[in-house]
Amino acid sequence: MVSRLVLVLGDQLSHDLSALRAGDRARDLVVMAEVMDEGSYVPHHPKKIALVLSAMRHFADELRADGWQVAYTRLDDAGASRSIVGELMRRGEAHGTSEVIATQPGEWRLIEALEAAPLTVTQLPDDRFICSLEEFDAWAEGRRELRMEYFYREMRRKTGFLMEDGKPAAGKWNFDHDNRKPARVDMLRARPMRFAPDAITKEVLDLVADRFGGNFGDLRPFWFGVTAAQAKRALDHFARELLAGFGDYQDAMLAGDRFLHHSVLSPYLNIGLLTPWEICTRVVEEWTAGRVPINAAEGYVRQVIGWREYMRGLYFREGPGYVRRNALGHGRALPAMYWGAPTKMNCVSQAIEQTQKESYAHHIQRLMVTGNFALLAGIDPAEVHEWYLSVYADAFEWVEAPNVIGMSQFADGGIVASKPYVSSGNYIAKMSDYCASCAYSVKAKTGDLACPFNLLYWDFLVRHRDRFGRNPRMGPIYRTWDRMDAERHHAVRDGAAAVLARLDAGDEV
Ligand code: FAD
Ligand code: SF4
Repeated sequence: MVSRLVLVLGDQLSHDLSALRAGDRARDLVVMAEVMDEGSYVPHHPKKIALVLSAMRHFADELRADGWQVAYTRLDDAGASRSIVGELMRRGEAHGTSEVIATQPGEWRLIEALEAAPLTVTQLPDDRFICSLEEFDAWAEGRRELRMEYFYREMRRKTGFLMEDGKPAAGKWNFDHDNRKPARVDMLRARPMRFAPDAITKEVLDLVADRFGGNFGDLRPFWFGVTAAQAKRALDHFARELLAGFGDYQDAMLAGDRFLHHSVLSPYLNIGLLTPWEICTRVVEEWTAGRVPINAAEGYVRQVIGWREYMRGLYFREGPGYVRRNALGHGRALPAMYWGAPTKMNCVSQAIEQTQKESYAHHIQRLMVTGNFALLAGIDPAEVHEWYLSVYADAFEWVEAPNVIGMSQFADGGIVASKPYVSSGNYIAKMSDYCASCAYSVKAKTGDLACPFNLLYWDFLVRHRDRFGRNPRMGPIYRTWDRMDAERHHAVRDGAAAVLARLDAGDEV
């Protein structure tokens, strides 16, 4: 006899999940379900689907070994319904209960679906984060600007990570200034840890190939870890082999090196195979032992306890309408090159090709290449959001949307970013080796060979002068534009119009 259903979603694969803590092994039934609605509400990258499904199947086995009864629905089970709520109702009817314990999902869409379900659902807070939503709201309340840096300092104080006698270790809160070095090709640089698919993963790969083979993205080779034990090994490998260079090369981009010193831990962290506490504890250990410099350890901890927690707080604070914001009124369709059509821009081509192959691109590729281009070209932020949510293995709405709508596209009108993250080709030229083998010239500011980023950058600033012209941090940029002569102004704007016309016509740019 089952008394309640305990729902565990595909990104809630943590043994100390609040719903599991509230459940009773002897009387409750864990419900896990692979359902078509979750697999297809955006065209997810096949690797992302395989990661989630295989990790779910492994987690269900661990729960069973731990004494839980688990009702697990496979995507190809006959009679399975299409949705999470449908599966809860089906299981509830079969076992004579309508009571459900859940941990609050990381997406408004599912929170609302559970609220509207004809079941008695208790949604418990997701406490796998360092900052609760109440704590975030209390921090944000009454502030004119929600600066991540101040939130981050609160989190440093709260966790004690890199703190000495109540003060920041090594005398500064933030060593970001040291973290802007371009990288050089290094054949000896370690790679993220790879795992060979086991029998469960192989079965999932066949299923995903069959059901989602037409989606953008390469399913194989598949090398993600799919259990907490594997995720811990990946963390350990990163801490020993790559963390030391993380700070210095955090913003660097290299053709042929898809990962540099990045950890590629976000897919594991976001589905619950690792916790922010264990990642940061491991990183701080390396610094305390003198094996990594402070700018690496601090830079990493800031991403996890600062940016990641801040993004989550904002997503929930801003409410379900956040993903539809469009403060700059952008409406151009997402160009086909984002789905793999050819482009002559080597930087964009590299970022998208590796996205297709790995379901991964690192932060600066997402922000300053694909995100920057979409913003400069005036792409509809809802389409940009849907693209990012689809193509990255770590993309779950609570973290993806504030990064895209807020940080990258300025579509929230400046909550996350105090000024838009836009740049001409110069930034990409400084931080990467992409320009050396590009069909365009980053040095050319006008003319047929001019780098499209150079043209669109000024065009964007001029189009949005009303909004950004009075921003004190952007004043010097507008003064540079004003010092250019009329002929240059025309050449830049005509060049930008030609690029945009090519995009609109579906021609290669
Ligand atoms: P590392 O470079 O090794 O960083 C360490 C960890 O810090 C990451 O694993 C991640 O958990 C955290 N982190 C770093 N930056 C951020 C950030 N801005 N927000 C939240 N966490 C951060 N991150 C996601 O987890 N999911 C997304 O869907 C996502 N979409 C993004 C979209 C855009 C347009 C941008 C600009 C950034 C996005 N990010 C997203 C943030 C960041 O790019 C990824 O977290 C990071 O690239 C993941 O790779 P990594 O594990 O190798 O990270
Ligand atoms: Fe990208 Fe421009 Fe450099 Fe080409 S020249 S790689 S388009 S920044």
